[in-house]
Amino acid sequence: MENAVLAKGTTFQPAANLVKIIEKESGQPISRCYQCKKCSAGCPVAPMADLHTNEVIRLVQIGDTERLLNSNRIWLCLSCKTCQARCPNGIDTSAVIDVLKGMALEQSRKPAEAKIPAFYKSFMDAVNMTGRLYELGMIGLYKMRTKTYTEDMGLGIEMIKRGKLKFLPEKVKNLNQVKEIFRKGREKK
Ligand code: SF4
Ligand code: SF4
Repeated sequence: MENAVLAKGTTFQPAANLVKIIEKESGQPISRCYQCKKCSAGCPVAPMADLHTNEVIRLVQIGDTERLLNSNRIWLCLSCKTCQARCPNGIDTSAVIDVLKGMALEQSRKPAEAKIPAFYKSFMDAVNMTGRLYELGMIGLYKMRTKTYTEDMGLGIEMIKRGKLKFLPEKVKNLNQVKEIFRKGREKK
């Protein structure tokens, strides 16, 4: 993999104060990173990602918004927190990546991994509708968003046969409270 930070011929307009903005939003001490790469060595999605975990942090430090928001890494992160557990400065890169994902969505950027944002949105919509994850509803929303109607159909049928997918959503108490959380989240944007 090409080193994203030291790539020859790379030009960019550094975003002013990006590190300060993302430190505030994510609550992570990004300025303390000294590029030891311990986070990258343990990241399970490293083989698929176009940036290493330490490179995400470095690009934030130098304000390279373009490379960050166009990267597939921000969509592949599993929030497993292995990076945080390994970091001598306790930096949780997944929290940084969450902020970057929000920025990419706010700017209506075409995501480098198109199906993953569709999955996130479908997950959140399903929780908003029923108060907890209604898997069949989420799958329906995801299929409509990605137009992958027949993909994984065999697997879906097998799961239904084994009782792993419920046809109807379970009722939750105080659904209005869940909806209020979503409403407040939308207000903050
Ligand atoms: S482990 Fe922490 S200090 Fe080391 S490169 Fe990763 S974020 Fe930076
Ligand atoms: S939280 Fe994300 S960046 Fe950190 S190790 Fe897991 S997948 Fe990699």
